Amino acid sequence: MAKKSTPKKSPAKATKATAKNLLTNNSLAFMERYLNNAAPTGFESSGQKIWLDYMKPFVDDHFVDPYGTAVAVINPTAKYKVVIEAHADEISWFVHYITKEGFIYVRRNGGSDHMIAPSKRVNIHTDKGIVRAVFGWPAIHVRKPEADPKPSLENIFLDCGCESKEEVEKLGVHVGCVVTFEDEFMVLNKKHYVGRALDNRMGGFMIAEVARLLKENKVKLPFGLYVTNSVQEEVGLRGAEMIVERIRPDLAIVTDVTHDTQTPMMNKIQSGDVACGKGPVLSYGPAVHNNLLRHIVNTAEKEKIAFQRAAVSRATGTDTDAFAYGAAGVPSALISLPLRYMHTTVESVHREDVENVIRLIYASVKALRSGQDMRYIK
Ligand SMILES: [Zn+2]
Repeated sequence: MAKKSTPKKSPAKATKATAKNLLTNNSLAFMERYLNNAAPTGFESSGQKIWLDYMKPFVDDHFVDPYGTAVAVINPTAKYKVVIEAHADEISWFVHYITKEGFIYVRRNGGSDHMIAPSKRVNIHTDKGIVRAVFGWPAIHVRKPEADPKPSLENIFLDCGCESKEEVEKLGVHVGCVVTFEDEFMVLNKKHYVGRALDNRMGGFMIAEVARLLKENKVKLPFGLYVTNSVQEEVGLRGAEMIVERIRPDLAIVTDVTHDTQTPMMNKIQSGDVACGKGPVLSYGPAVHNNLLRHIVNTAEKEKIAFQRAAVSRATGTDTDAFAYGAAGVPSALISLPLRYMHTTVESVHREDVENVIRLIYASVKALRSGQDMRYIK
């Protein structure tokens, strides 16, 4: 059960944060509220409001773009602009086809996983509010073992307790309504955070904590810091593609999740050797700017923050690509949070990794100078 209210810690206490208590009760309460809120791709506004409300005390200004990307700004008049970025959207489903018997077939909104759908409870988001439903599935007793059906978009369906299409429509459900799983936040063994869409709302949480620490530690940055929570990453980095043109930053540090490869059925030859609990993951690849990456590696070594390395192929598959290749080329780097069970409702991360990604982004930003020229050849 979610804690409804938690006492606020005074900023003075939070300033003394060590790796152990970096996250205050107040920040953890925000994290849980933000994670449990549904923010489907293209429909992120409610989550963005929660995020902006938390951010406002830590920044000088904020703005949103037409599609809902939210940007909280420190030093808005500074010429040199640094972005720290995460994405706000959550994979979901669309109501696609309602049968005359009142069953609902769905379409993906982002990389939603059909394999995990059967027997899940969902929320259908309608103008009349949430309509609850379940992904039904035929009983084990009646399925033929030799032809056990595999869940696919062709056979998974929602049941919202209605007997006809008309009854479904009366509830406010129509084609185009978005559908999210109802699973909420929990903690395993006091150290693994579990829930839906930690990809990448944990990123939104981490960049927010960087802004909080800068404020509480009274850090004066010599440049503008644009803390950016982009929409629509899950359908092709769309929010980042838009906002990079609007901000036209000089540098971007992006955070997203990456696969932990320690659990059963993962393949290290294919996916590399990454472990939850062993620290932030730094990616190497053409989109990642080597000079900015070197700055982050040096910072990690100086601050004694353990980190892991990963090699990406053509693209990072994260908003890093949109920043790197947008606005005529923005030196960009990626700091990833290792995560288990991506795109399921039990995405898991290690608390220490969350804290260390925050520490690494915080220290890397703090160590940047204004006007830093990142060009490879000068
Ligand atoms: Zn994702």
